[in-house]
Amino acid sequence: MRVVVTGAAGFLGSHLAERFLVDGHSVIGVDNFVTGSRKNVAYLEALGGFNLVEHDVTVPIYLDEEIDGVLHFASPASPVDYLDLPIQTLKVGSLGTHNMLGLAKKKDARLLLASTSEVYGDPEVHPQPETYWGHVNPVGPRGVYDEAKRFSEAMTMAYHKYHGVDTRIVRIFNTYGPRMRPGDGRVVSNFIVQALKGDPLTIYGEGQQTRSFCHVDDTVEGIVRLFHSDFVGPVNIGNPNEFTIRKLAEIVLEETDSASTLEMLPMPVDDPQVRQPDIAIARELLQWEATVSLREGIRKTLPYFKIEVESGDARARTILDQF
Ligand code: NAD
Ligand code: UDP
Repeated sequence: MRVVVTGAAGFLGSHLAERFLVDGHSVIGVDNFVTGSRKNVAYLEALGGFNLVEHDVTVPIYLDEEIDGVLHFASPASPVDYLDLPIQTLKVGSLGTHNMLGLAKKKDARLLLASTSEVYGDPEVHPQPETYWGHVNPVGPRGVYDEAKRFSEAMTMAYHKYHGVDTRIVRIFNTYGPRMRPGDGRVVSNFIVQALKGDPLTIYGEGQQTRSFCHVDDTVEGIVRLFHSDFVGPVNIGNPNEFTIRKLAEIVLEETDSASTLEMLPMPVDDPQVRQPDIAIARELLQWEATVSLREGIRKTLPYFKIEVESGDARARTILDQF
């Protein structure tokens, strides 16, 4: 197969592109580097079978090659990034998704959309099954990401129903692992960088809010299984083991053997208070569930961040850096 991966220079896109290459397929990566990294692309190029098209997917793209699949992963994904890039985030979810659906239609290719647990917003149903419609503030700061993804799901279903495009939607829950940008501002990368540097770990609010963290190897396996399945409806992919942010800080401090202290910062506006995937559909239809525990996943992730920190310019980025 030949597949297009948008966002291939980013964290998840680069792991997914790698998996398709390792499985013997060729990959066209499309990225404009707004939050991606040239290092990730160099790594993929070294594997062979990978070509980069430097392009902003909010602009239509014309490719000569036959294409079997489009995996649409381009979008800022860290809250600090999408609060910095609100218009770009809305455009990549709307115009970018429209363009990628157009490409899939023209090439008669299967399109898989990277959606998110953020479509559930600050959820009033817990854990969150795919049937839950969500609790999103459209005019709050996070609305730019949440509503872009909700629109992209609606556009994907419209192309499926009215144009017969073969589509899949994955709702990804918090994923972490090597190749996250050290300064992308998400909690796992922040805490690991802060702990390795001996800086205080920045906890927002009291740290009692929860997330369910999934190691990237598990997430990629779930996405690949969904891509090859027949299931059109949205599917949650995430690790149901739920932790408070304070507990995550403790685990990171233990695993890094760090003497860093904790620093309390204000809770960001509309920050979801709980989040846990109901993965009954993934279990039943994809025979998938996460296998890597949080502690084990943090251990697998540390060598990458140690190299980044030793290189000298890795620096965590918090909600305060936006103002
Ligand atoms: P990332 O920021 O590391 O990667 C995003 C990539 O998209 C970057 O390389 C960026 O340059 C590229 N991009 C952004 N806008 C673009 C545009 N207009 N044209 C071309 N390229 C563009 O983020 P990530 O964590 O790898 O997330 C990838 C996808 O997965 C996103 O769609 C995100 O919403 C989704 N997702 C991720 C998570 C997670 O925990 N990592 C959770 C839910 C959903
Ligand atoms: N968070 C934190 N300190 C940080 C970064 C994030 O306490 O330095 C919290 C944030 O308030 C949220 C959780 O960690 O409750 C997860 O944040 P992240 O940015 O990783 O992703 P989100 O799940 O909010 O999209």
